[in-house]
Formats: sequence, C-alpha cells, structure tokens
Amino acid sequence: MVVQVKPSSHHCSKTIEGTQQKVEANILLLGAENVGKSALTVRFITKRFIGEYGEIESIYSHIDTVDGREISFNIWDSLYPQDSAITESISEKQLQWADGVILVYSICDHSSFEVVRQQVQRIRHASRKMSATAPIIIVGNKRDLQHRRTVSSEEGRLLALSEDCVFFEISAAETYHGVLLVFHGLIGLIKESRALRKGAAGIKSIVRSMSAVFGKKRAE
Ligand code: GDP
Ligand code: MG
Repeated sequence: MVVQVKPSSHHCSKTIEGTQQKVEANILLLGAENVGKSALTVRFITKRFIGEYGEIESIYSHIDTVDGREISFNIWDSLYPQDSAITESISEKQLQWADGVILVYSICDHSSFEVVRQQVQRIRHASRKMSATAPIIIVGNKRDLQHRRTVSSEEGRLLALSEDCVFFEISAAETYHGVLLVFHGLIGLIKESRALRKGAAGIKSIVRSMSAVFGKKRAE
C-alpha cells in the first residue's frame, strides 16, 4: 500500500519568508525483500531500530538539516514484487518521481546482491531513455552479521565503481551514523546533479539566444 505519492514538480519551493529556499528531495529505496529497506528508512526518520517492520509500502515525509540547510525528504520505501513479471521493470513512475535512489542488499544474501546488480543496470538503461540523471547509492546492509557474510566488500565496491554509484556498507541495526551518511550523502549528490542540469540548461539557453541573434543578423 502506497500511502502518499507526491508529484515531483516541486524540487525547490520558496518558503513564506521568500528568502531561503526550501529544498525537497524524493528518495526511492529499492532492493530485494528482507534486506533492510524499511529498517534504513525507520532508522533515518526515528533514529531507532525496531526489528520488525511488516510488508508495507509507504512514502514518508521527514524534515532534516543537511549542511545547515533544511531539507524536506520524501522517502519511498518500496516493496520488492513477488511476481517475476513485475520484477522485470522498476516502474517508470518510480523513476520519474525519484531525485535519488538507494539500492539495498544484504551482505549475507548473495541473491539480493544480484537483484541490486540487475536493478542498477535497469535504472541506468531507463534513465538514458528518459534522459533522467538520478544519482544512485548502493548500500550493503547487515554489516553486523560478518560471520554470515556471502558478499565481499570488494564485490560491492566494484559494482558501484562500474555503474558510477557511491557505495556504503552499513548496519542499520547497529548504528544510526551509517544510515545518516547514506541519506545525507545522497542529498549532496542530488544537489550536484541539479547544479549540473541547471548549468547545462544555462548553456543551452545562451546558445539558443546567440543563434537567435546571429540568425536574425543573417536574415537582415
Ligand atoms: P525490507 O523487506 O527490505 O524492508 O527489510 P526489513 O527492513 O523489513 O528487514 C528485514 C529483516 O532484517 C528484519 O528482521 C530486520 O530486523 C532485519 N535487519 C534489517 N537491518 C538489519 C541489520 O543491519 N542487521 C541485522 N542483523 N538485521 C537487520
Ligand atoms: Mg520493507
């Protein structure tokens, strides 16, 4: 059940005072079931690790300060579909909505790592078609369970490197700090990607106005 879906056309909205810009960020959590997507979300929002979260899909709103600036987080804690046909596609709606993506696997479940590998490739492929550029962070969770590890840190790091993603290994159960680094890190990447887009748009509009001027001159 998705409780709340907001449109994504609200990236920067002026606050009532009109001076400081309030920044909104839509963050999508993906990955196989049982890897700790809900644990990460709840840990970030409440600072607590509860243990059991149930099979619900929700979009949570949360305000936090990152680098002295208030950020309004919308966090889509997704459900991994049981139906393999649905598994084939992360929905276009999700990708259009997301400003940034967190892909989670469990370091003690190699098949969940393979799910992340497929999902990151799918996102990169779909993003190229949609000319979207949502940054991605890959998270290896359950770092506290070293004795049950089946995915090495190296594998995680290599996948992230090859797909141009940032990589973290954390334990949502053990510490809040790692979870905070993931969410705040993603905000940094989202800001960079927005600045790049803005820059590219600026250059395009300069080129457009210059060619309009020169086009006019030629016509005169
Ligand atoms: P989701 O299906 O991806 O949302 O996974 P959940 O957040 O519901 O977590 C699945 C199970 O893994 C739950 O029993 C959690 O308590 C447990 N879990 C989540 N994160 C950690 C972690 O960092 N370490 C350990 N040991 N267990 C975790
Ligand atoms: Mg969950």
